[in-house]
Amino acid sequence: MLKRLRAQSVSRLLIQVTVVSALLPMLLIGARLYQAAWDNSWREIREKHQLLAQNLAAPIATYVKGQRNLLIQLASSMTLLTRQQPAKVETLLAQTLASISGFRSLAVLDVNGKTLALAESQPMQHADTSIFSKEACFLETRASGKPSLSKVKRNPFNGQPAIYMGQPVMDQKGKLRAVLLGELDIAYIEQLRERIRFGTRGHAAIVDKTGHVIAHPNAKWMEEIKDISDWSIVQKMLAGETGVTSFYSPFMQDNMLAGYAAVPEVGWGIMVPQPESEVAAQVNALLHSYLLWGISGFILVLMLMLYLARWITRPLDELALAGQDLMSRNLVGNLPDVKEDAPRELRQLGHVMQNLIRNLQSSRDEVSRFNATLQSRVEEATTRLRDSNRKLEEMARSDHLTALANRRYFEASLMQTLSRRSSDIDNVCVMLIDIDHFKHINDAYGHAAGDAVLNHIARILERSMRSGDLVARYGGDEFVAYMRCTHEIGLERATHVRELIAQSAIPWQKRTLQITASIGLYCQILSPGTDVAQVLDRADDAMYEAKKLGRNRVVDITH
Ligand code: GH3
Ligand code: MG
Repeated sequence: MLKRLRAQSVSRLLIQVTVVSALLPMLLIGARLYQAAWDNSWREIREKHQLLAQNLAAPIATYVKGQRNLLIQLASSMTLLTRQQPAKVETLLAQTLASISGFRSLAVLDVNGKTLALAESQPMQHADTSIFSKEACFLETRASGKPSLSKVKRNPFNGQPAIYMGQPVMDQKGKLRAVLLGELDIAYIEQLRERIRFGTRGHAAIVDKTGHVIAHPNAKWMEEIKDISDWSIVQKMLAGETGVTSFYSPFMQDNMLAGYAAVPEVGWGIMVPQPESEVAAQVNALLHSYLLWGISGFILVLMLMLYLARWITRPLDELALAGQDLMSRNLVGNLPDVKEDAPRELRQLGHVMQNLIRNLQSSRDEVSRFNATLQSRVEEATTRLRDSNRKLEEMARSDHLTALANRRYFEASLMQTLSRRSSDIDNVCVMLIDIDHFKHINDAYGHAAGDAVLNHIARILERSMRSGDLVARYGGDEFVAYMRCTHEIGLERATHVRELIAQSAIPWQKRTLQITASIGLYCQILSPGTDVAQVLDRADDAMYEAKKLGRNRVVDITH
């Protein structure tokens, strides 16, 4: 595995290492970041929802408290007026309603439930104002002598959702004289609610202490004072809790993530829900941007690596290619310089290779020069050797005194001739020549004279030979020759040789020497397998016969 990895090209290896060393940690860190980002986003969103719910609870509490204070002031300024001056009470209510906001109507009822005065921001036709005496808020304040707050209910006159505040009006002795009823302006609460709007479907909703809708984006629910007390989130709010929860909203028909808070002063609940899918989309968008940055970073690193790999491998490839080219041209030419923008080490490598090639080129030239000299020397030596071989060969087959062939060569040559059939002549005649009384020459004139005679005879014999014939010194004063001719011609030629020898005058130290020779002749038809020794013996027999018969003659014993 490691071996295979090492055998790869640099660029491939760099990219693989980048992928492993950059992508792997990036993925691991990315996965952790993703988890952390996911957790963070959820926490942030949860905190935001809870904060929004709490932030809405504060102004609502302030609003209700402010309205209560107004009622307290109004009740105290009314203490003296209720009994004596009912008309002034009505004026006071109308003036108050005109100068402040937040109440839709103000009414004063005596302890018997009779309406003493009534002021409305939008006056209505009242068939019977005694209906106020049935208001639970009135009944509660009259019974307890303490302030009260109703749940959200219908205004008995116009049927619109209404919330009433009951405030006791005491005389100086602290006895309950009347009850001040203020109808809170729900539109104002709705305005506060409406300010909270986020995302595409994020909103806020307010319920009273019985879990009925006071303010909600669904106008119909507000209109019908929808009871949502069975919702788990509503139950938590009414229990006075503050937090974040998930629940299914039938209105949105979706799972919602909601922050919720209680308004302890009035027992109301406030929730700020947003569809979970929307929250998830927000978180995902955040994560996508993380991912995008991560991938862009990785691509950047990869591109840098590719550039780096190219920067390193390109000059190397070029160098290798130029090297190969140079090798194929048998080192003729030069290695080009590595480009200036290549890494320093590669430029150094280029210089080293150039020097190496220059050294190789000069070594090669030296070797070829040496080879050329060596070749001529070898040729010279071979020629000399050939010459000496030839001389040796000649020496091996020739006689040193007469330069004729020697006996060994003659016998070999005769054997070949005997075994080779020729198309024209199929006969060979062998003659053996022995000088008569040669000893006498040596004895009388000296050995050198004998040598001169031998040489003289050798030349006569040489001249008498034709092509295909051979003459040799047989030993001592004996010569032998074979002639490719018929028996008759052989005899003629032997006779002629004898005559030439006998007639020749051999000059020796101002003298002339005369000699004769005895010649034995034997002719034989060519046939392979003929015994050379036997043929020569026959010629020898003939020569002895010539000696016996008186010398200086030719004896032919051919049948
Ligand atoms: P014949 O043949 O007629 O019977 O008598 P011959 O005197 O020739 O007798 P033989 O053949 O026995 O003598 C040959 C002599 O030749 C003997 C030897 O000293 C001499 N001789 C042999 N080789 C050489 C040589 O190379 N040079 C000289 N000068 N003499 C040689
Ligand atoms: Mg002799």
